[in-house]
Amino acid sequence: MEYYSKQISKLIEELASLPGIGHKTAQRLAFHILNMPLDNVQSLSDAIIDARKNVRYCKQCFTLTDDELCPICKDAKRNHREIMVVENTRDLTAYEKTGKYEGVYHVLHGAISPMLGIGPNDIKLKELMQRLQGEVDEVIIATNSSLEGETTAMYISKLIKPTGIKVTRIASGVPVGGDLEYIDEVTLLRALEGRVEL
Ligand code: ZN
Repeated sequence: MEYYSKQISKLIEELASLPGIGHKTAQRLAFHILNMPLDNVQSLSDAIIDARKNVRYCKQCFTLTDDELCPICKDAKRNHREIMVVENTRDLTAYEKTGKYEGVYHVLHGAISPMLGIGPNDIKLKELMQRLQGEVDEVIIATNSSLEGETTAMYISKLIKPTGIKVTRIASGVPVGGDLEYIDEVTLLRALEGRVEL
């Protein structure tokens, strides 16, 4: 037996397909949306569609942005000779929140995982190596301290070593397996400052 009319069920079903949203939360959100003024609902749905349509990879660092170059890559005041390698845009944001990092980034969009069948060609690694042909003083590897993150760090450092560019790894003060985005700014800053050469 159907409890809700078709359109309400459809809305609940769509919301429940999002990560971290169970059926109960989906129901609550659906009824919240149904009670919102139509203008607000329109603006929510426009935001979703606009972001999905216009957001793309920054041509240089591969973070998500709505322009050819992201604001960080465009910023002449940043140190473009220092590149921090992170797994995803959320990790980049975590470091940006510390407000203390002045270099630029490279977003891999994943980590090497033999278990999941994710190899070096499945992440933005070739693109990183291409960037290193320019003038770069240091590459800071800030992948997570999970097995995948460590595997990726080792792999990248072996690739870069022969180029003579300094390669460092953020200090382990970052909890093992911890997603960078959930770690507080002080811990991140300490990890960055205590980085060691590989
Ligand atoms: Zn960028």
